[in-house]
Amino acid sequence: MHGIEVLAQGDTGWRYVRYGCAIMAACGIDMTGRLVGEHEPRLAEYYEAAISAMRDIDAPVLAVDRRFDGGALHFWERMIMPCRAADGTLRILAYVRPRGGREDLLATMFEASRDGMLVLRALRDPAGRFEDAEIVMANERARAGLGENSESMEGLRLGALFRGAAAESLRARCRRVITQRSPERFELNLGPLHEGGDGGGLWHRITILPLDDGAVMSFSDISDLKNALIEAESARRALAREVELRRRLEGELRQLSLTDDLTGLANRRALERKLRQEVSRIRRYGGRFCVIAVDLDHFKKLNDTYGHPAGDEVLIAVGALFADETRRDVDLVARTGGEEFMIVTPDTGLEGALDLAERLRRRLGATPFQLGDQTARVTASFGVHEYVPREGHQGLIAAVDAALYRAKNSGRNNVALPEGKRAIGQG
Ligand code: GH3
Ligand code: MG
Ligand code: MG
Repeated sequence: MHGIEVLAQGDTGWRYVRYGCAIMAACGIDMTGRLVGEHEPRLAEYYEAAISAMRDIDAPVLAVDRRFDGGALHFWERMIMPCRAADGTLRILAYVRPRGGREDLLATMFEASRDGMLVLRALRDPAGRFEDAEIVMANERARAGLGENSESMEGLRLGALFRGAAAESLRARCRRVITQRSPERFELNLGPLHEGGDGGGLWHRITILPLDDGAVMSFSDISDLKNALIEAESARRALAREVELRRRLEGELRQLSLTDDLTGLANRRALERKLRQEVSRIRRYGGRFCVIAVDLDHFKKLNDTYGHPAGDEVLIAVGALFADETRRDVDLVARTGGEEFMIVTPDTGLEGALDLAERLRRRLGATPFQLGDQTARVTASFGVHEYVPREGHQGLIAAVDAALYRAKNSGRNNVALPEGKRAIGQG
């Protein structure tokens, strides 16, 4: 649509000689024979300014005008040119062309949007209750995204477009937007990317705004972002599991390093740790504890007679015997060297420890060890010492070693105290 306007100069200003019928139809008025000044003031001013500009520069002027017609905004482009009539009088020729209205602009924007957009209309039952929403308009992106063409989409119900839980959720949201007239923004997983696929999926960020008795829904694909986030989260979880596993392994290793390989008893390190704990416990809270040092008698001879592997078996059995005779949850039995053991007895006075050492000595002496078809007998010497506050860790070890030395020196297979104390249980 375009049109021509011709204006002639009269005594009272520029007057329309011709007013194109297409323009007339578009604007709804006929200005033929009327003055430019009869336009509404804003428009009149605009024309007069354009005409005087053209006359000043004596060349055509291109002017763009914005006008509301029937509630819609239109843009008009006018090429205003000077010319002369056959009689030589001055005329103005204007070539008028519409540049489109806001509707065209909005329609273009709607169609060009990178988000999928649907205009929806509420479908209501006879009582006026919301039932579903049907599509009034869909833009190119929505059609491509939903795999439909424009004809088949119009009139489609939401429920027919999306399936399963996604359709339910969308319908519920639409109902809320339409009945409460407040917008909603949310993210929705529209199902797996591949048939039968798991994880991932088609994630959309969706906005629903109320519009008349319906809504405008826009959705953009955020699958890449969302799936990357989901992957990052599962990687984080895997890492946390790895860290936990490592922590447990380290715990087990720590445990292993406190255990004697051959007998499974505590080792020297575990014993030292236990002694330090007991010493500091007594410093803080008081109390008493004893230590028993054990060395098997003539063990070299046993090895020589039955062989080293048989000796190992005896060491294992002796360890088990000691563990069995002590209070499992309180006392600590450690193998501290080749055929040497040490027992820590918390909350125990000297009498109790001597009694335990004697029980061990007797039971060991009375236990036959079956080595192949032969039976071996084993005895041990025991040194017993009650911890004296402030003697410290080193003093404690020295004292119990001295007691053991005395037990060996006084004939073996017996229980002794450090120098200066009475030895008992001579075997
Ligand atoms: P006593 O203590 O009564 O003086 O005599 P003993 O023969 O036990 O003395 P000594 O400490 O000299 O020798 C300890 C022996 O214990 C030396 C070695 O043959 C044996 N022995 C040390 N560690 C192991 C071990 O792990 N396995 C076996 N089978 N024998 C060991
Ligand atoms: Mg020894
Ligand atoms: Mg020995």
